[in-house]
Amino acid sequence: MLWSGGSFDHYCVRDVGNANGCQSRMHGHEEIVTNHPLEGNPSCLVLVWRFLLTQRVDFGSGECAVRLAGIPSQGAIMTEHFDVLIVGAGISGIGGAYHLQDQCPDKSFVVLETQSDFGGTWRTHTYPGIRSDSDLYTFGYRFKPWTDAPIASADEILRYMGEVIEENELDQHIRYNHSISSAVWSSEDKQWTLQATDAAGDEKTFTCSFLWMCQGYYRHSKGYTPEWEGMDDFSGTIVHPQTWPNDLDYAGKNIVVIGSGATAATLIPALAGQAGHVTMLQRSPTYFSTGRNVNELADTLRALEIDETWIHEIVRRQTLAEGDMITKMAFEDPEALKEMLFEGIKEIIDDEELIKEHFTPHYLPWRQRIAKVPDGDLFHAIARGEASAVTDHIERFTPEGILLKSGKTLEADIIITATGFNLNVLGDIEFTIDDEPLDFHETVSYRGTMFTGIPNMAWVFGYFRASWTLRADMIGDFVCRLLKHMDDKGTSVVVPKLRPEDNDMAQLPWVDPENFNPGYIMRGLDLLPKQGTKDPWRHTQDYWNERKELPIADLDDGALTYLP
Ligand SMILES: Cc1cc2nc3c(=O)[nH]c(=O)nc-3n(C[C@H](O)[C@H](O)[C@H](O)COP(=O)(O)OP(=O)(O)OC[C@H]3O[C@@H](n4cnc5c(N)ncnc54)[C@H](O)[C@@H]3O)c2cc1C
Repeated sequence: MLWSGGSFDHYCVRDVGNANGCQSRMHGHEEIVTNHPLEGNPSCLVLVWRFLLTQRVDFGSGECAVRLAGIPSQGAIMTEHFDVLIVGAGISGIGGAYHLQDQCPDKSFVVLETQSDFGGTWRTHTYPGIRSDSDLYTFGYRFKPWTDAPIASADEILRYMGEVIEENELDQHIRYNHSISSAVWSSEDKQWTLQATDAAGDEKTFTCSFLWMCQGYYRHSKGYTPEWEGMDDFSGTIVHPQTWPNDLDYAGKNIVVIGSGATAATLIPALAGQAGHVTMLQRSPTYFSTGRNVNELADTLRALEIDETWIHEIVRRQTLAEGDMITKMAFEDPEALKEMLFEGIKEIIDDEELIKEHFTPHYLPWRQRIAKVPDGDLFHAIARGEASAVTDHIERFTPEGILLKSGKTLEADIIITATGFNLNVLGDIEFTIDDEPLDFHETVSYRGTMFTGIPNMAWVFGYFRASWTLRADMIGDFVCRLLKHMDDKGTSVVVPKLRPEDNDMAQLPWVDPENFNPGYIMRGLDLLPKQGTKDPWRHTQDYWNERKELPIADLDDGALTYLP
């Protein structure tokens, strides 16, 4: 989008990339068609037209209207309209953009992203060693083969996402440095109006027919750190991994990492060796799965020069089948699964007592994600004496470090609080529906992606136990199918609504705390929507069920209501 206020005197300049179809439908405006003045690309046309009043230009199904509030001048507020607006350019938002372009090529769309570049989670987290904890054959998209080792660094994931953007020319649809603060639905206008602030602090207004929330589930600007007594007295440095200072010098330093999840398990081996010593301080242990960071099947197929597309699909199936086996084992024979996981650790650390004390959780496997420790690197760091584990509770911070409830003191130069996220359900966007502020907790999930009383909106919330992206891809298909279904029906509004037969249905938390209970979800259950006890109101977190159900979900079962 280009803006000219000076030489054209109250003109709006819109870069439409390819003006086909747009130009011919622009009635009633004085218009000039010219080559793009900045990019020097003759195929890239810029339409210039005069607006005297707030106008809306309808380009048919691929509507790309531009509205000006009053007579525009340089820096004037401008409203752009898109069929679909995607919030967030993380793995979900980029996947959504791909699916939309692929399956609904007539729809105009934009992706708005707070950060200055794509990647979401993988750009926000820059701590040493940052890597995935699920394999990239399933965390990668269905449509783009992964060709490296299964567990990947953030840089490798960003490279992969960058290729998806480049190969599919998605960049033209993404606006970085656009932070959305409010979303207002108007039933009269049958559209959302969103306010965003750009890097310069200017307010921008967007309208869209359908809102695709790909904003993730936690606040990117700040991680979760509990308040401990005496924190201000500590004379060293306290760091949360989510806001890692790039200039943090930890060479030779005594480091205490508070936490026992995937982040701690990633950080500790990455710091060990360079740091003086790294201590993992945990309240309670976590299940870890060691194992080499290779996929032998993929390597064999590659050696046979099998096409990467095939390898991707075959290895996905293999990984999913193994994941399913582990999940079943977790519920049917948890003791056997525990033994299997401990065996991997015992191969590296020959100390049964240590494993019993620090690596034997009190909960059943799979209530929280089993953290992957590729090539057992955390345990090798412990075996080498560069790192150690302490299971205890914090009494308070002291100038020297941490006083534990047991009476012991852990001395530290640096304390890293790998204590998790702040749940951020709707991207800190204030939602209003027809003048009523939205209470998201009062809504009931439709298949874990749409919500009762919220029109034309879908949210991508991926899997906990399987890779997030498996669900992001499936919701991509679902949203595109729904948009096409609405076009076929000639409707412009869809809103999930409990049917008379659903009114007595019990309403349960978004996730069952007995089934899955990480801290950030438990802390935020009252912010999350509810689920029902029967379809289509359940949020099952069950890939195997959803891969069958979602593609054939009856869009006319009465749970989705449509308006013209
Ligand atoms: C360190 C770490 C490792 C992980 N590893 C795995 C793994 O291996 N496998 C797995 O399945 N899951 C993993 N997860 C979970 C992971 O967050 C998701 O899998 C996935 O990356 C989420 O992608 P997303 O695009 O939905 O959300 P995010 O990655 O959170 O991206 C959301 C984007 O939306 C933008 N945004 C939010 N609000 C607004 C707003 N108001 N306006 C504009 N833009 C906004 C954000 O800036 C961000 O870029 C991991 C999480 C972390 C933190």
